[in-house]
Amino acid sequence: MDSAASTPVADEVIEEMMPFLKRHYGNPSSIHGFGRETSRAIQLARSRVATLIGALPREITFTSGGTEADNLALQGVAFHNRNSGKPTSIITSSLEHDAVLEPCKELERMGFRLTYLPATGDGIVKPSVLKDAISPDVALVSIMYANNEVGTVQPIKKLCEIAHEAGALFHTDAVQAAGKIPINVRELGVDLMSMSSHKINGPKGVGALFIRSGLELAPILRGGGQETSLRSGTENVPGIVGFGKACELAGGRMDQYRQRVTELRDYLVNRVLKDIPHSRLNGSRTDRIPGNAHFTFFGVNGEDLIIKLDENGIAASTGSACSVKRQKPSHVLKAMGFSHEEITGSLRLSLGMQNTKEEIEEVVSSLSRVVSELRLVSPFKSKYA
Ligand code: PLP
Repeated sequence: MDSAASTPVADEVIEEMMPFLKRHYGNPSSIHGFGRETSRAIQLARSRVATLIGALPREITFTSGGTEADNLALQGVAFHNRNSGKPTSIITSSLEHDAVLEPCKELERMGFRLTYLPATGDGIVKPSVLKDAISPDVALVSIMYANNEVGTVQPIKKLCEIAHEAGALFHTDAVQAAGKIPINVRELGVDLMSMSSHKINGPKGVGALFIRSGLELAPILRGGGQETSLRSGTENVPGIVGFGKACELAGGRMDQYRQRVTELRDYLVNRVLKDIPHSRLNGSRTDRIPGNAHFTFFGVNGEDLIIKLDENGIAASTGSACSVKRQKPSHVLKAMGFSHEEITGSLRLSLGMQNTKEEIEEVVSSLSRVVSELRLVSPFKSKYA
């Protein structure tokens, strides 16, 4: 129940990768046949990734994952504009993943002007809020497509239009959305979009940044000039091949995925809200990615819940896998105006294609039991137990 953190690599993906781990080890930059073979495999993967999002193959730059794609988008625009005397301010939202927030903070330390837009209680960045904040000195607006904690899908097309009207570029971190819901970069109008392979049954450590044709960025990794000099370093050929296959699979099964995972998720949500008193679904009911269910269980601690669920063989999360290790309260829930109690009792259950209805039944019954047990020993016992 933690597919938002990562997903199993699909058999078809492993099959496609294996020859590039065993036999085809040529360096794609080599002129000889071994090199040309792996170079062709990268081009095929590039066109598969592009097809998933309605882009051109040359608009796809492979990276080491979503984090690097986000860093490249933000720093790439900021440094390019600073070097060419163009506007350099950046607007982002307070809901972003750390892969966006941390490079933003670093840019701020370097003297760039950053604005962090607030969100509604449902986790939506309202277009009117962006409209009020934007000015001609803004170079880039970066707002995530779907939130990794509460699953809320942002009104990207509208936000992108507002950015463009003011002369700014638009980037979206689509790591939690690409391959799960239909995305067409042309219809949306975005200039830059980050993707990650391991969220859609591909291997870890590989992702991509869509960069609209004609857009210039400064590289953040310099060296041998691979990926049109935007991302130097010998390519992760098996990873890229696997990511390409994962995108092809995701595109082919999109409708099936949405139907199956949304059905399972809705069943889970309805059962939890019915069976467990003092529980609440967080985020938007409607504008939400298929696999996300995020709850607050009043009177319990989400981390205790995770440990108890783990003892029952159930993998869950309080939100971002990265922030859990640092034990800091979720900045996303804070941005949505949640109280300390609402944040403490929060739990994310995220579903994938591999989950079954029987598993959901098991999760609901374990969750129900564990929440009751924890409430009995909680300081809020008299209120919720
Ligand atoms: N952005 C979002 C919204 C994410 O959920 C994640 C991963 O959890 C990332 C970026 C980072 O992606 P990666 O793990 O590929 O570096």
